[in-house]
Amino acid sequence: PQLAAMEAAAQFVVESPDVVYSPEVIEAQYEYRTTSVSREDGVLKVHPSATRFTFRTARQVPRLGVMLVGWGGNNGSTLTAAVLANRLRLSWPTRTGRKEANYYGSLTQAGTVSLGLDAEGKEVFVPLHALLPMVSPDDLVVDGWDISSLNLAEAMRRAKVLDWGLQEQLWPHMETLRPRPSVYIPEFIAANQSARADNLIPGTRAQQLEQIRRDIRDFRSSAGLDKVIVLWTANTERFCELVPGLNDTAENLLRTIQLGLEVSPSTLFAVASILEGCAFLNGSPQNTLVPGALELAWQRRVFVGGDDFKSGQTKVKSVLVDFLISSGLKPMSIVSYNHLGNNDGQNLSAPPQFRSKEVSKSNVVDDMVQSNPVLYAPGEEPDHCVVIKYVPYVGDSKRAMDEYTSELMLGGTNTLVLHNTCEDSLLAAPIMLDLVLLTELCQRVSFCTDSDLEPQGFHPVLSLLGFLFKAPLAPPGSPVVNSLFRQRSCIENIFRACVGLPPQNHMLLEHKME
Ligand code: NAD
Repeated sequence: PQLAAMEAAAQFVVESPDVVYSPEVIEAQYEYRTTSVSREDGVLKVHPSATRFTFRTARQVPRLGVMLVGWGGNNGSTLTAAVLANRLRLSWPTRTGRKEANYYGSLTQAGTVSLGLDAEGKEVFVPLHALLPMVSPDDLVVDGWDISSLNLAEAMRRAKVLDWGLQEQLWPHMETLRPRPSVYIPEFIAANQSARADNLIPGTRAQQLEQIRRDIRDFRSSAGLDKVIVLWTANTERFCELVPGLNDTAENLLRTIQLGLEVSPSTLFAVASILEGCAFLNGSPQNTLVPGALELAWQRRVFVGGDDFKSGQTKVKSVLVDFLISSGLKPMSIVSYNHLGNNDGQNLSAPPQFRSKEVSKSNVVDDMVQSNPVLYAPGEEPDHCVVIKYVPYVGDSKRAMDEYTSELMLGGTNTLVLHNTCEDSLLAAPIMLDLVLLTELCQRVSFCTDSDLEPQGFHPVLSLLGFLFKAPLAPPGSPVVNSLFRQRSCIENIFRACVGLPPQNHMLLEHKME
């Protein structure tokens, strides 16, 4: 089935007067139909409108590098292994038979979209990555930093994620990869992490910032790259206090770094990336992208995205609660227990780091609750409790147990109990890939409208990535969307617009006529 889809992808071309393919760009005319609502004398007045967009997508795919902060961690080593295993077409024996490298769990590589109906009335699907020219994950060049000096082969062994037969084959390829020294400020991560901090950038905050910038430039030139994207997949930090004068504006944040005042390592990496013109993505829950960092990204027109990979329990929650509320059932209590035994779990066993995770996991149902004033009075929300415990024996195989209790009609209740074994890094690595590949693609898209002919790119806070984040960042004033279906539709429909296709509406009217 994979081969058939690939063949279809290679032949995919939109035949329409609204779409022009040149060697450099795909240019699509697109009518964005939307509605605005006003309230007059207790009546909601709804005004349909249409704006004509021209989307341009550069077709030339760059040579792309990703720098992982926390490269030697479970996620970092697993992502590196996944890219190598696929590039080398590895297969390995397991007790249930031979397994082959693949990208299951990646929306872009293993998710599909429907192009329409064929002559027999059947839907034709292609992989999502076929909609527009995208970097192939096999071609991604990986580098990064870690406060732990282990090479990537040793890091892979420490992570205990991959089958031994795969580790053996990857060993010679990963052994030569060594994380660059990083910034360690002990108070930001749990004290139990100190033993692995043996690979550090010395000096003042300003000197550390400069070293990170040099590392990015060095990677770009030594690997012959056109573009670099930086992704934070290091330990969860405690929240950083937002203090006027310290980190509220770009200018203040840069001054704070020069003066050596309080700044988190992750914010330091974000600032370095932005100053180097490299997109920065935050895979952990802490508030790395403080207002000053967001302002800097805005000034430099560099993409930032976050926060916290949406991989296991939260992903299910953003489907299940959506299903319940959109069906008209009323969730009253959502209780989530987790236990995990990897280094992430050990770090999260300290209260300030757990707090960051608790906050990022807690807001995930807000938009769905607010979408239904039939069920919820203003300000009313379900009880929502999140517990995380460190249990070393289960390692990277995180267990997530949830109980959802909803009110039914006429006083009934419905309780759903879920046990989810989330092989953590194997779920996170494809998400990391998608983040990087989608961000790179967004950097090649520009658009203008009838009323504003000046070409522009997407807003620097790249909310299109929301599908992949637990606590999605959105531009100021923009609604925050957590519902997984809405998030997926957003990506699919924007990319469809870029090739002049209408939004996917699932109406299938062709099959509803006589
Ligand atoms: P991990 O502990 O195995 O890896 C983190 C790595 O970061 C470690 O190697 C550590 O040495 C390194 N590190 C810590 N501080 C650093 C710094 N300042 N600079 C450079 N390196 C530093 O954890 P993991 O399982 O790989 O998860 C990574 C992050 O992703 C965690 O914050 C976790 O909460 C987040 N996350 C993971 C998932 C998932 O499903 N795996 C989902 C959402 C979020």
